[in-house]
Amino acid sequence: MSDDEEGTIEFIVDSLEANALDDAEDLEFDAETAELLSEGDEDEIGGIDDHDESEDPVAEALKPGAPLFILHKGAQHSGILPAVAADITGRYRGALHVGVAASLPRTSPAALKRFFDSMTSAAPIRFADPEAFARPDSLGQAIAAQRGDKPLVGRSGAHWSYFGDPQPGGYSDTWVQDVLDAQRSMGASVLLTPGLWADPTNMQASLASARQQAIWARSALAPGEHLAVNMTLTPPWLTNVTLRHKLLDEILDMNESVFYIRVRWPLMPQPYGQLLDPALLDGYVELANVFEENDKVLILPNTGLTGWISLAWGTHGYSTGIGAGERSFADTRVIRMKRTNPRPAPTNRTFVGEVLHVTDVTTAGQLEQLGPGPCKCRFCARQRQLPQWDKALAGAHYLRQAADLTAGVSTHSRGRRTAARQIVRTASSQVALASAQVPLTATNDPKHLPIWAPLLR
Ligand SMILES: [Zn+2]
Repeated sequence: MSDDEEGTIEFIVDSLEANALDDAEDLEFDAETAELLSEGDEDEIGGIDDHDESEDPVAEALKPGAPLFILHKGAQHSGILPAVAADITGRYRGALHVGVAASLPRTSPAALKRFFDSMTSAAPIRFADPEAFARPDSLGQAIAAQRGDKPLVGRSGAHWSYFGDPQPGGYSDTWVQDVLDAQRSMGASVLLTPGLWADPTNMQASLASARQQAIWARSALAPGEHLAVNMTLTPPWLTNVTLRHKLLDEILDMNESVFYIRVRWPLMPQPYGQLLDPALLDGYVELANVFEENDKVLILPNTGLTGWISLAWGTHGYSTGIGAGERSFADTRVIRMKRTNPRPAPTNRTFVGEVLHVTDVTTAGQLEQLGPGPCKCRFCARQRQLPQWDKALAGAHYLRQAADLTAGVSTHSRGRRTAARQIVRTASSQVALASAQVPLTATNDPKHLPIWAPLLR
């Protein structure tokens, strides 16, 4: 949210819903202010840690096998993530690997270091995402244009020279090394290549550049360091057959086995919703299948439950978080309103595991009465003791449920696809059963369930 001189207020949201203001803060809240506010709120719930060092937990987590579940830090509410990581790690050892990711350029060095320090024992797999796609010479200007000309990376970007320095002679080996050094300095345990946007109108050159940067990065690694190839794509790379096959050929031809791929989604139809674009989903299915068949590892940052369902297609890992911007990497838009108008009351929302969807809290309560009763997780137990809605606890509950779902497909005796199909089928039945008493409409409607079902056959 920001004020301008004409007396209007701007909100940036990533959904088509007009009244999505409660979600706006996640995209717009100033990162440095948030850091000041959140100082000292770690250990709100008191994490436990009984991590047991295997030979190299990072190498284990980057191999085909148990999926990698990544908690993605946002600008707000990150103080609760150590408690979430400890809860999940203790519960699901062997069924999944827990990782953590945070934006490098959108965080100050001190805050990022503090955050990683708080996560070290519970989450040995740490990504400090360089987000080079947000540079002005990559996707930065297009993203800023969707945010009322406010760049994604604000003041904190000045801490990172690789992010702000122009590269007039083109990206070089030295620049790639700077990108790696920035991540090392924060304690990242998986290093990422820069992740510049691959321009689909310049297919050959953009893929060649991504490959060159991966080669430079690989040759700059010290013994024992881990690398993932970071790519930022726009939808044509997955929806256009020529581009998709060219991309897949390139990935298969590269010596690298771990890829961290982000695709810019269209504006979300629902706040905290899932990707509903069938062509893009088909592209993900093929991408994930090809990775699995070739023993390569695909990680999909910022994909929420869409990342979860893609585990059934062959994806190895995904990230999600408390804010909308951590659950999806989607186009945004600006909502303007007169300052003098009363602000609409925020809608509190929460994840309802039985229907695999985020609904408003009133509806969630009604569904709870029909279903198996209140959630038994420690975060919901705490929420029920509080007089006011606590968004951090609601976010922690969502992350715990996402981890439950991830472990659920990982440990199923008949494999991930069967497990996911059963879970989705049960959720669809629950929606149908509830419909007479609690009809799920508009933003409460889990529109992704009928779209997912045929993709799980
Ligand atoms: Zn809960």
